[in-house]
Amino acid sequence: MYDVVVLPGHTGYVIDMMVLVINSGSSSLKYQLIEMKTERVLAKGLCERIGLDQPALKHTKNGDPQVVKQLDLSDHTKAMSAVISILTDKEHGVITDMNDISVVGHRIVHGGEKFTDSVLIDDEVVNEIENCIELAPLHNPPGVSGIKACKVLMPNTPMVAVFDTAFHQSVPSHAYLYALPYEMYETYRIRKYGFHGTSHKYVSGRAAELMGKKIEDTKIVTCHLGNGASICAVNGGKSMDTTMGFTPLAGLAMGTRCGDIDPAIVTFIMNKKNYTAEQVNDYMNKQSGMLGVSGISSDFRDILKADEEGNERAKIALDMFCYRVRNYIAQYAGVMGGLDAIVFTAGVGENNPFIRSRSTTRLGFLGIEIDEAKNNTKAEEIDVSTENAKVRTFVIATNEELAIARECKTLLAK
Ligand code: ADP
Repeated sequence: MYDVVVLPGHTGYVIDMMVLVINSGSSSLKYQLIEMKTERVLAKGLCERIGLDQPALKHTKNGDPQVVKQLDLSDHTKAMSAVISILTDKEHGVITDMNDISVVGHRIVHGGEKFTDSVLIDDEVVNEIENCIELAPLHNPPGVSGIKACKVLMPNTPMVAVFDTAFHQSVPSHAYLYALPYEMYETYRIRKYGFHGTSHKYVSGRAAELMGKKIEDTKIVTCHLGNGASICAVNGGKSMDTTMGFTPLAGLAMGTRCGDIDPAIVTFIMNKKNYTAEQVNDYMNKQSGMLGVSGISSDFRDILKADEEGNERAKIALDMFCYRVRNYIAQYAGVMGGLDAIVFTAGVGENNPFIRSRSTTRLGFLGIEIDEAKNNTKAEEIDVSTENAKVRTFVIATNEELAIARECKTLLAK
């Protein structure tokens, strides 16, 4: 499945696969076109406000300034059609024909228990993704819309679904089950699913490569710390446990999500504030976490600034965040019975030396030691541990789009 394509503005031929990566949200559709020989992003962009007023397509061709077009994007099919038009456009495009696209990779949030890996999409796969809608009512429907739109517009192009949950299907039952009556699992599939799987898999793979080891021979804790945040115990390249659960609300304190709390608090708040189930869900997802504790913002930059200015609640929020990260690193070292490396990634993990440093204090007994000069050096990928540290601490920029494109390439090669 290798194509020969002519790239406008290039003199020669590029001979390899072209992957269009699609990430559909309820009112947005992000895309990247990646050439797999060089793994270069040829173009990327975003359709926003799909189905709303003033929709727009924002497109960037590698090296050119961003183009913004106001278009009729009343649904995902129209948005996909706009993406194909601009990718093949004489002025802003990077391919001559949509058949130059070898495969489309779709990011799908929830694959339930059915999908343990990425899959080639057929009608049965679409049905199964639709069956998971109950588990991810906000995220899976736009994913299905993206797939259906592509199927209409490019019926002969293979498509691959890459799931956020799939990587965590290796978590054993004693870790994924909750101590509720077993019928809750049997009837409603209530269990830990975990999220950010594509990112945890990608950065743990990179860490193994940077250590010059086979992934099968490594024990790595990956810390994906963004607005949403989760930690994963990656043992021999497989997820053994992760902090998010049945939904992405569990685990760490996050930008606006509370993470783990005593479950009895939920009904207590409902009674005190006269909240419906939906209201309390909203409260825990959108008004809690760093925002709720600090009372300042969900953005770590604002909270760090307030902390520097002596704001007590900003300090508590940061202390709380780092305390939980540290807890889980130590816990997961215990889960795996050893540790070779930890990885910090995503917005906060990649950009914030203070959080990295604070989250690893007192972990010297595990062999984790950070070199502060290296920790303050900005790089896409860097080992920030002291030379003699027994455990490597890496900062690795996550790249979920590239990871999805690689999954597509691997699947098609099979
Ligand atoms: P998500 O994909 O979950 O929305 P990101 O991985 O993009 O989140 O991370 C967003 C967060 O990264 C922001 O809330 C911000 O607090 C944090 N962030 C970005 N840059 C910096 C920085 N230089 N220092 C501290 N935090 C940062």
